[in-house]
Parts: sequence; structure tokens; C-alpha cells
Amino acid sequence: MKEIVIISGKGGTGKTSVTAAFATLAKNLVLVDCDVDAADLHLVLTPTILETHEFFGGKTARILQEHCTRCGLCFEVCRFHAISYACRHTDDRPGMVWTIAPVACEGCGVCANFCPRQAIAFEDAMNGYWYRSDTRVGPMVHARLGVAEENSGKLVTLIRREARAIAEAQESELILVDGPPGIGCPVIASLSGADHVVIVTEPTVSGIHDLERVVTLAAHFRVPASVIINKADINRDNAVKIVHYALAHGVCVLGEIPYDPVVTQAQLVCQSIIEFSKSPASESLHTIWARLHQQVMKESGV
Ligand code: SF4
Ligand code: SF4
Repeated sequence: MKEIVIISGKGGTGKTSVTAAFATLAKNLVLVDCDVDAADLHLVLTPTILETHEFFGGKTARILQEHCTRCGLCFEVCRFHAISYACRHTDDRPGMVWTIAPVACEGCGVCANFCPRQAIAFEDAMNGYWYRSDTRVGPMVHARLGVAEENSGKLVTLIRREARAIAEAQESELILVDGPPGIGCPVIASLSGADHVVIVTEPTVSGIHDLERVVTLAAHFRVPASVIINKADINRDNAVKIVHYALAHGVCVLGEIPYDPVVTQAQLVCQSIIEFSKSPASESLHTIWARLHQQVMKESGV
């Protein structure tokens, strides 16, 4: 079984369209959408949710007003300005009423440690949901992190683990991961231990810069990398620069996808570009998929 992760240095490069196309071309796979902050693979693959699970990734503090003496120490020690006060004229107890804004609380626990009256409950925080679903191409594990919630790396690790359990149970040949954009914690959680990473980039100055960052990240985690240049024809000079950069850094160039309005048309009807129609972009993706397969086999010595 191989685990292939599709990432990009930033959002909007066509990563999810490429993942959906590969999912349509692959056989016997399990899909994971690790873009837990802004998941969108479900928009193309319209999964049927079989199981919904709560995700508890961190802690949050809550003041127990009945035990609070209103000394204000928690307000002083909170570095995240999550604690605020209000005068409550109807209340006959002296001092301010202190409250914690759950969205601002970083769950560090300092206030609970310092409170002289043990008047702060420090509890598990429900940060989002994760799902086991069925799609027309195979099982899918995906998630939704709550607004302004942290711990996306933990959630990514959890859903990758669940996907692996499904893949092992049904003897799948492939786990295909739609990774998050950028180079932050959720990307690191998506990459570590994967067999191969595919980087989707565009021939723009920022695209080249982002590519360099993700290639460095993949090298750090010793995950073999390859690159796909999306909309390669919009700037041929930059596309050539990407090829040179990739070759100089031991990154396999899987191929180019031309700019093709059919990609957007396919998204509008919730289909992968492979399902939607034969077009220059879909033909490129067929070729790229075959090369990726060969590359991964070569890396495993097959
Ligand atoms: S430190 Fe404890 S007792 Fe003092 S205001 Fe905060 S919650 Fe209340
Ligand atoms: S747990 Fe940390 S961030 Fe949250 S209110 Fe307490 S001190 Fe502030």
C-alpha cells in the first residue's frame, strides 16, 4: 500500500482538481481530505457521510463563577487577552465579573494554575468533526475544524490514521491525500511518513517561491517529491524555470497541465475533469497519472 500526498505552496493552484482527477483514475483507494481548515474535495466527490465523530484536540478554560472571588489574577496572567470583565450592577458581590472568551482562549492553562480558588475549569475542547464517508470512487475520511480553532495538525494526524485503518481492512493499494496548502503544521502532519508527495504549482513568481518552500519541507522529511505545473502555458518562461529548479533539486517533473476552462465547468457540476469530458487538461492528467505510478514504483524498487 502506498500513501501519496498532493500539496501546493498555497491555495488555488488546482491541487484539489488534480486530487479528484487522480481519485477517478485510481483503483482500490482510500481518500483523505487533510485540508481541514477549508476542505473542498467533498464539493467534487459529494460523499455520503456514514459516521460523524467529534474531535477534541485541545483544552479550554472556563470560570466557575460560584467559586470565583473576583480577584482578577487570571486577567493579569493571561497573555492572550482572552479574559475580560464586566460590572454587574444587579449582583451584590463586590468586584468585576471575569469571563473567558472561548474563541480567544489558547488553552495554555496558565490561568487555571494561578487561580488561588481553583475557580477555573480546564476542560477538553471540541474543535470540530471528522467523518467516514463513501464516494463514487471509494471510501473517504474528511473533517471540518471549527471557526478559529487550532490543532489542525492533530486532526490531520487523526484522519490519516483512520484512513490507514480502512485501507488495511479492505486491502487497498493506495491512500490518496488532498493535503493542506502552505508549509505549516497541518502540512507537516500530512507529509510525515508518506511514500510520495506531489507538488502542484503554477508558473508565477509566487508559485516558484512557494514551490521552493515545499520542496525544502519534503526534503527535510525525506519524502520523495514530484511536481506538476498547472496552467503551464500562461507563462512559458516561468514554467521552464520550475523545470530547471526541480531537476536541480532531484524533484521529478511529472508534467504540465494547460490552462483549460473545462476545469471550472467540471467543478460546477461536481465532477472531476476526467469524468467531465475529454479535453487538453484531462489528457495531460491521464499521462501525469501514468508517470506518477511509474515514479512511485521506481522509488519502491519495483
Ligand atoms: S483568578 Fe480565580 S478567583 Fe481570581 S478572578 Fe480569576 S477565576 Fe476568579
Ligand atoms: S487557558 Fe491560557 S489563554 Fe485561556 S484564558 Fe487561561 S491563560 Fe488565557
